[in-house]
Amino acid sequence: MNNIQSPSSSQRDVRTGLLALREQTPALENIFDAFGPIAKAHEDGCNLLVKWNNFILPEADALRFEQGVPLLADMDMPDFEQYYSEIFWLLSKAVAEGMPALSDKISVITDALQGSEYVNELARAVWDENNGVFEGLAKKLSLDGSVLMMLASLAIKPFMNRMKDEAALKIEKMQWDKGYCPICGSFPDMSLLKKKLTENAEYMAGHGGQRWMHCSCCDHQWRIKRNICPWCESEDYKKLKYFQSEERKTERFDVCDSCKHYFVTIDTRELAEMPDARIAPLGLVYLDIKAQEEEYQPMAETPWNVL
Ligand SMILES: [Zn+2]
Ligand SMILES: [Zn+2]
Repeated sequence: MNNIQSPSSSQRDVRTGLLALREQTPALENIFDAFGPIAKAHEDGCNLLVKWNNFILPEADALRFEQGVPLLADMDMPDFEQYYSEIFWLLSKAVAEGMPALSDKISVITDALQGSEYVNELARAVWDENNGVFEGLAKKLSLDGSVLMMLASLAIKPFMNRMKDEAALKIEKMQWDKGYCPICGSFPDMSLLKKKLTENAEYMAGHGGQRWMHCSCCDHQWRIKRNICPWCESEDYKKLKYFQSEERKTERFDVCDSCKHYFVTIDTRELAEMPDARIAPLGLVYLDIKAQEEEYQPMAETPWNVL
């Protein structure tokens, strides 16, 4: 069965989408001011990378993949050319614009890195998940290590986004039932309940609607069973609950009391238009706040849900 599908590409641009979200939820104005520039810079980075073709994706090994190894887990880091540093500067500017409290730390970082080879070392460190590099570099150059790591991680996302459509084709015939992304291995930043697209008894068990997860890194969407915790895979229905918003009935957060993780969800079944998952989580930060007040942890840390 094919349960992996990329979202339609009929999205509006991020700026238009953010304006619409702002009208819908004016109370979250501060959130859009702070994180809108990051979403916009991410989109600009993706647009830059339309020209970047310097990657060869691995072939999927069905056995390993279906046991839960994401497609890109075995891939060597491709040559990001000059694009990684271009995108790193774009995002640094956007984070400083949205979060003025960080702007001094960010100028120290950009001053220290401009014109050096260090930026490419950052890309390698993110790719290899080698956090020691950030600490080392932060110490050596007197930089804020956690801001450095945030910027470096944000700058890799447009590359993952660039590769994900081609990657999705390599795994489209394969089964994936994990809560993390089948392409890049990151956890989701939101979930979408969608109308049933295909007849399939297994996925009908939870009554009407399919659960799709949206990757916090590469923007891929994949389908998983409705009644399972994407983090710990518990299927204990007594421990899987959700809290629906009073005012906005299509929005909620789902929690697992086995592992104390949560994720935000939009029920799209009655919506006229599919939300733009690149920015929709910004409109749900009020749910992140409630969930974290109740001591649940997000599955994916994003700039806006580290409260
Ligand atoms: Zn992903
Ligand atoms: Zn769990």
